[in-house]
Amino acid sequence: MPHDHTPARELLCTWSRRMVRDGLVVGTSGNLSVRSGDLIAVTPSGVDYETMTASDVVLVDDAGTVVDGGREPTSELALHLAAHARRGTGAVVHTHSPAAVALSTVSDHVPAVHYQLAMFGEAVRVSEYAPFGSPELVVNALAALGESTAVVLGRHGTLVLDDTLGAAYDGARQLEWLCDVWLRARAAGEPRLLPDAEISAVRERFARQRARVRATDPAARPAPR
Ligand SMILES: [Zn+2]
Repeated sequence: MPHDHTPARELLCTWSRRMVRDGLVVGTSGNLSVRSGDLIAVTPSGVDYETMTASDVVLVDDAGTVVDGGREPTSELALHLAAHARRGTGAVVHTHSPAAVALSTVSDHVPAVHYQLAMFGEAVRVSEYAPFGSPELVVNALAALGESTAVVLGRHGTLVLDDTLGAAYDGARQLEWLCDVWLRARAAGEPRLLPDAEISAVRERFARQRARVRATDPAARPAPR
């Protein structure tokens, strides 16, 4: 039986609208993608998220060829494809959230102001600037991403990868919150950061929690490919 891509398309509409409401993007900026069977569902270019419907969502294969959908895929398609090519990625969220962009103008990583930073597995670095939609943006993003599940795109936004769209979206909100906390702390004085050993210990606890959730909740796992 052919894979039903409607649930993935509807998920993108739901989370795109939330992204606007939560202030992670303004207007039609930012974009999302989620694995759906052998294909990847991506947000279209230049469509208002409030009026976007499932049929506006574009389906592409792993090479980026449009398989279904009458619209142009997001201008950051190459960035999404590169993220999905990384083993285990089920969904990708790209925001233009203000605290992360502000941080990227003054820091080359997200400092450890809170243990929540450990959720990304590794350090969250700030990538070198490159124009939107460019091959350099993808190269710079992957270089800064490393083995982490999140990266701040220098003077641009954020990119967060996870098993599911809900999890990647939560990551994008947590990342924005961390950047906001750091900006507030820095405005007030010299922030006292958590030591690396503490972040490492929490990282291990988060990894164990994640393994438990994956083992018990099929919805928390990426869609089979
Ligand atoms: Zn962007």
